[in-house]
Amino acid sequence: MATNNKVRVRFAPSPTGGLHLGGVRTVLFNYLFAKQHKGDFILRIEDTDQSRFVPGAEQYIVDCLTWCGLIPDESPSLGGDYAPYRQSERKPLYRQYAEQLVESGHAYYAFDTPEELDAMRAKFKSEHNASPQYDHQVRMQMRNSLSLPSHEIKRLLDEGIPHVIRIKMPVDEVVGLKDMIRGGVNFNTSQVDDKVLLKGDGMPTYHLAVVVDDYLMKITHAFRGEEWLPSAAVHVLLWKYLGWEDAMPQWAHLPLILKPDGNGKLSKRDGDRLGFPVFAMDWLDPKTNELTKGFKELGFLPSAFINLLAMLGWNDGTTRELFTLDELIHNFSIERVHKGGAKFDFEKAKWFNHEWIKNSTAKALFPEVKKLFEQENVAINNDAQLERVIELTKERCTLLTDFITQGKFFFVAPEEINGEPIKAKWNSDKANFFEEFSRLLKATDTIDAISAETIFKNLATEKNIKPGELQLPLRIMLVGDKYGPPVFDIAATLGKDETCIRILSALAQLP
Ligand code: GLU
Repeated sequence: MATNNKVRVRFAPSPTGGLHLGGVRTVLFNYLFAKQHKGDFILRIEDTDQSRFVPGAEQYIVDCLTWCGLIPDESPSLGGDYAPYRQSERKPLYRQYAEQLVESGHAYYAFDTPEELDAMRAKFKSEHNASPQYDHQVRMQMRNSLSLPSHEIKRLLDEGIPHVIRIKMPVDEVVGLKDMIRGGVNFNTSQVDDKVLLKGDGMPTYHLAVVVDDYLMKITHAFRGEEWLPSAAVHVLLWKYLGWEDAMPQWAHLPLILKPDGNGKLSKRDGDRLGFPVFAMDWLDPKTNELTKGFKELGFLPSAFINLLAMLGWNDGTTRELFTLDELIHNFSIERVHKGGAKFDFEKAKWFNHEWIKNSTAKALFPEVKKLFEQENVAINNDAQLERVIELTKERCTLLTDFITQGKFFFVAPEEINGEPIKAKWNSDKANFFEEFSRLLKATDTIDAISAETIFKNLATEKNIKPGELQLPLRIMLVGDKYGPPVFDIAATLGKDETCIRILSALAQLP
């Protein structure tokens, strides 16, 4: 195990598409651990599988991290002492390690063509073995440097015949791994195939590259999704065979994020089916032109998103649920991450966002909300007015986009009002009341919520109408419909002139 080194962790995504919330949670846990230990958080792009490469995916990952405020200390764009941080740019340095493994007898050259591999699978396919692997049972029947005579191997290599380098998995050995979340995990090597380490084009596979780079980049702790646990046996052996066992990082395999019913891993398709995002930000697939919705565009605050992700599989030992990023850095511990999968509940996710919106200041929310209004073509000429509107409506907003529904009427008078809820009880006394109310308002200097309410109630008493019967009509006149913050706050925020204009225009629409 790596000792007394500065903590160095990495997020090592393959740029193959949108970033799933499980991926962002992996970033978050790495980040929290690094910051808590005053260590470094590295972004490394694992792009050695060229067939899965998707243009734009790397930039998208960087944008997601930026939105979340989880900024790496070293990355392809920021650079660092261990650059380059894109594996495709490190291609020349992997072969020597694969060759070293061949020399020490832990790996071998394999010359099998795709047709020969297909033939092997067809030959060994049986009821008990649906997809035969290239492993200790078949390796001696294949064309590789274990089965061929040395002069033949030399000839094939000299002639530059395409080949891969495979790990020679030992037969029936137990490989142990100490996982910071799971404790001891053991694997039997006979279950694992002879994975390709270096491909025909000289590119390493993930298995070789992850070990080489974690070593060269002095990674002390490797936290990654549970789906990588089965590969860990290969990685542990590579650390050992390359002679780096003492530098091996400590591992933690993070639990899966599960579907809301707990039935398996949460996928993008579940999100589509159940109507919620699973990606951090909108992702437009350049190949299919298909748009997958993200939390950001739906109206989540990054602080709320981070908070809810932290709680997927972790808690601080109490029932506390709301944490800022700094509080998470302070309170996080990898040992408290649960082994079992964490169910994703979108209603709960929205609860976090609502709490965060409610508890944010109007000033903090202002830039995002203003942007949203502008996107809706609602011109904001008065920033102070928007700040008042945010203050007044934030309790009612679960998503940032709710500010549009809750606040648009402050800036754009309703074109028509929904008279339905008040029609049945509407009469000329009420119409007279509102005519007079607007006259009284006009005659005052300025209004605030209290003075508007006082004028309103006094007049109602004078006219012998219950104020309660007049408040809904007033709301509908000002808002256009039956929603919004307290009605005298609305009137005060609109100001007396606009309030009067809306009352009179509504009166013209009512019978
Ligand atoms: N490149 C792997 C992925 O796409 C990284 C796994 C790891 O962190 O070792 O998830």
